Amino acid sequence: MPLTKELINDALSGVAHPDGGDLVSRDCVLNIALCSDDASVRICYTQGHPDQQQPDRNALSNMGKFAEQVIRAAAKAEGVESLGLIIDFVDHAGQVVLKLKSDTKTSAETPKEKQPEQAPQNTNAAGVPGVKHIIAVGAGKGGVGKSTVAINLAIGLARKGHSVGVLDGDIYGPSLPTMLGLQALDQAVIESTLQPFLVHGIKSITMGKLVDADKPLIWRGPMAHGAFTQLIERTQWGELDFLIIDLPPGTGDVPLTLAQSVQLTGAVIVCTPQKVAQDDAVRASKMFESLGVDRLGVVENMSYFIGDDGKEYDIFGKGGAQKMAQNLGLPFLGSIPINTALRRNMDDGNPTKNFEADSAGGPQLPAALEQLTDQLIAQVTLASMNKSSQAPTLSIS
Ligand code: ADP
Repeated sequence: MPLTKELINDALSGVAHPDGGDLVSRDCVLNIALCSDDASVRICYTQGHPDQQQPDRNALSNMGKFAEQVIRAAAKAEGVESLGLIIDFVDHAGQVVLKLKSDTKTSAETPKEKQPEQAPQNTNAAGVPGVKHIIAVGAGKGGVGKSTVAINLAIGLARKGHSVGVLDGDIYGPSLPTMLGLQALDQAVIESTLQPFLVHGIKSITMGKLVDADKPLIWRGPMAHGAFTQLIERTQWGELDFLIIDLPPGTGDVPLTLAQSVQLTGAVIVCTPQKVAQDDAVRASKMFESLGVDRLGVVENMSYFIGDDGKEYDIFGKGGAQKMAQNLGLPFLGSIPINTALRRNMDDGNPTKNFEADSAGGPQLPAALEQLTDQLIAQVTLASMNKSSQAPTLSIS
């Protein structure tokens, strides 16, 4: 039976709206376009709330799950072999807030067709008890802002009500003690179990608090393995929704150990716009791919600079990392501008200030970080659902 607009509309009417009712009855479906087995749907969350310019934060956080429901329902309803679906979530002004693309195979024998080259993640890899999602933040190059992104994502997730931990896996050059302001605190150990620090609403652990800060950290391969594994296993994390792991830069021993010993939900790749950073980021991405780790998306850091005159200056070639993500077929999670307040807040160990316009040099940085967090949540939701069902494959841009 061919796919029709009515069938999609019916499917959407079976999808609950986060505020009650369903998408169709709440007039959220603005448009359905159809061409053969490809459909495009435009959805506005804030329909019926003229005062609400932006989609509700909870609704944004649920977008991934929500879109998945739409696709499943639509795929089931029309009974065709495959469905190419694009869902644009728009705000009140018609601006696209999030775009979801899916290429869903609806027949049972085809779902894995698209990823023949991907090795399965090590089946011996275990999760960390009590931790729902483990996310690695990696970069091909040092100094691109990997630790900065890891910490700000952690704070962003915590601000949305999630319980979050950060593990400073960059055992060669730990930055967490400075960036979280842990200098004056001592590492607590109870019966040989490390107690994470609890600052800025997140739990954290770092090699930087276990070794002498003034001595260079020189690890040989097996030592690095051991140190990293112990940091993960010996820490009493308790119940966490997300454990963010700040990896060392590059594609060396530690990321390999990590991907082989811990069941990751996925990896985030941080990159600056320049070509040289992209080349290394591509290598990092390939490493995760070859290890069978889901790549949740790319973050472009130091994307552009906003001067005191309010103008945007393109220093490194804005959009370079976004193009790289497109070329690799990876979701683009968002970009962070070069921001002196961000650098200062991180140096002062005050990352929460990045989320407050007054201390973040204006509203751009908090908005960028919020959006990044929302996109990450959406991708994590999709990755988890894909893992559990192996049904639709989705990408967000
Ligand atoms: P990496 O972990 O990749 O080595 P870091 O996160 O340690 O990089 O960042 C390196 C330096 O750059 C830090 O001083 C950090 O505060 C600064 N930095 C990172 N991102 C930005 C940004 N968007 N704007 C201004 N400074 C930044």
